[in-house]
Amino acid sequence: PVLAGRLHYSPALPPLRAGLLQRMPAGTALKIHAVYARPFWRAAGLSGVAQSAEGVLTETVDNTPPGAPRAVLTGFAYGAEAALLRRQAPGARRRAVLDHLTALFGPEAGEPEEFVEFDWLAEEWTRGCFSGHLVPGAWTAFGPVLREAAGPLHWAGTETAVHWNGYFDGAVESGYRAAEEVRRSL
Ligand SMILES: Cc1cc2nc3c(=O)[nH]c(=O)nc-3n(C[C@H](O)[C@H](O)[C@H](O)COP(=O)(O)OP(=O)(O)OC[C@H]3O[C@@H](n4cnc5c(N)ncnc54)[C@H](O)[C@@H]3O)c2cc1C
Repeated sequence: PVLAGRLHYSPALPPLRAGLLQRMPAGTALKIHAVYARPFWRAAGLSGVAQSAEGVLTETVDNTPPGAPRAVLTGFAYGAEAALLRRQAPGARRRAVLDHLTALFGPEAGEPEEFVEFDWLAEEWTRGCFSGHLVPGAWTAFGPVLREAAGPLHWAGTETAVHWNGYFDGAVESGYRAAEEVRRSL
């Protein structure tokens, strides 16, 4: 939706549709991968999955591909924490993330062989992560036009899904629904 709102439409979008797109920002998330020689956390009986109510990383997972020669812990920073990290210099950001991993998984977590970060806000053709969401008050006022066609324009995208909104399944579902709308209109 954030990208759809940046397009120029002629004729202009219906007012409620335009209003909806103004109230549907993309989420804010940073994704990091810390790569290690071995999955040391497993030896300690840990899964690598963590949820933190405080600190820079809200979630972590063991993201080691099957049969991979090295091990990967992946972490996500969301919302205010992601924005805070984004403002920091790369070195300070790395330190803050590794300090969090160390607190969760021990000192080995602080010394990865490789550190990869990905900022979805910086992706010009995505502009955020994981998906668009309506700001407070917008569902009730603008939500009813979420899937409403604007003349010949039909809306797909995971944000318009009824099930698994914000996920791949939702994206596929919305594609079928929009295609069916177009088929009927023809
Ligand atoms: C880091 C991350 C992890 C995720 N993990 C999961 C997961 O584990 N499971 C899950 O189910 N979902 C996950 N998701 C969510 C999933 O990726 C999305 O729900 C899904 O990709 C949305 O599909 P879509 O077709 O609605 O939109 P998109 O995949 O965003 O597709 C929109 C396309 O439009 C293109 N585009 C934009 N503007 C224009 C333009 N002007 N002209 C032409 N093309 C344009 C874009 O380049 C893009 O290819 C994740 C997302 C992120 C970012």
